[in-house]
Amino acid sequence: MTGLSDSFQRPINYLRISVTDRCDLRCIYCMPADGIGLMAHSDILTYEEIYTIAQAAAELGINKVRITGGEPLVRSGLPRLIQMLACINTIDDISLTTNGTLLSRYSAELKQAGLRRVNVSLDTLRQDRFELITRSSNNLGDVLEGIELAKSVGLNPVKLNMVVMGGINDDEILDFATKTVNEEWHVRFIEFMPFGGKGATASHFIPISDMRERLESLGELESCLPSVGNGPAKYFRFPHARGTIGFITPISEHFCFHCNRLRLTADGKLRPCLLAEDEIDLKQPLRSGISSVGLKRLIEEAVASKPLRHHLAEGYIPKDRPFSQVGG
Ligand code: SAM
Repeated sequence: MTGLSDSFQRPINYLRISVTDRCDLRCIYCMPADGIGLMAHSDILTYEEIYTIAQAAAELGINKVRITGGEPLVRSGLPRLIQMLACINTIDDISLTTNGTLLSRYSAELKQAGLRRVNVSLDTLRQDRFELITRSSNNLGDVLEGIELAKSVGLNPVKLNMVVMGGINDDEILDFATKTVNEEWHVRFIEFMPFGGKGATASHFIPISDMRERLESLGELESCLPSVGNGPAKYFRFPHARGTIGFITPISEHFCFHCNRLRLTADGKLRPCLLAEDEIDLKQPLRSGISSVGLKRLIEEAVASKPLRHHLAEGYIPKDRPFSQVGG
């Protein structure tokens, strides 16, 4: 195994796999209120097809996999996929991104299947606001319970991702930050990318620098290393805090020069960049019996076509798919 690297010499070792475009929430920053046109079930990759792609990718040097969606836990039998992926020897890190509504139901099974860690999207600590942001009547308490259960079964770390939107939930930044002091909460503040949801617009964007300023009222942040992973977040903690704070700056300071990832959509397209429209279809070749060598060639092609960077800050917005289809 020689490892993959793109035409800008970035090592590529991370595959994000979207297992469904379905979601039980309609978050204002992610989806239109009435949802999106759904993929036909027959267009969605089976677990066996995902496994075949992951195996080929692993043979090329991918050793980290994240399961995402849509909401991955609404797809039935997800622990079976985790178990299959965990059997690929060279994949040493399997993680999940979820909205947490079903986490308490599946945490133990997921852990047992080989899941190592989990990121939970959590944008508010208030029930009324949770309903407003997610446009659903789901119970915030279920998500909080899922987070605690995930920790208790040994999923580690459990990171909480908050998309911060001015005038919507930015007044909770300090509440989230305080949680990192007293409890083992690992909170990551994410800059809102102004597209996709229609319920939140560019006027709701707040740069991380603004959030950092507000956090100063709680004390001085010390830089620290992530407990695991080497993603785009920069990590800090308050003195003596039990948890950490991460900042993710897709807009104000893009991190493309360190991008190490590829994305597989639920309908089998390999996407070299979240924020560019180019895709390489793997589903049709797979269903037509492509060899493992052929599949690996397509993966290498996708890696070679990775763009240097996205152009969101200059106003370029990919028009083809919402985040819920690409796997944010
Ligand atoms: N359903 C899962 C969840 O809620 O975590 C996984 C899919 S969801 C598309 C993954 C993440 O995408 C969200 O938590 C959020 O952080 C990110 N996301 C979606 N739309 C975004 C936007 N417009 N700006 C910033 N982040 C966004």
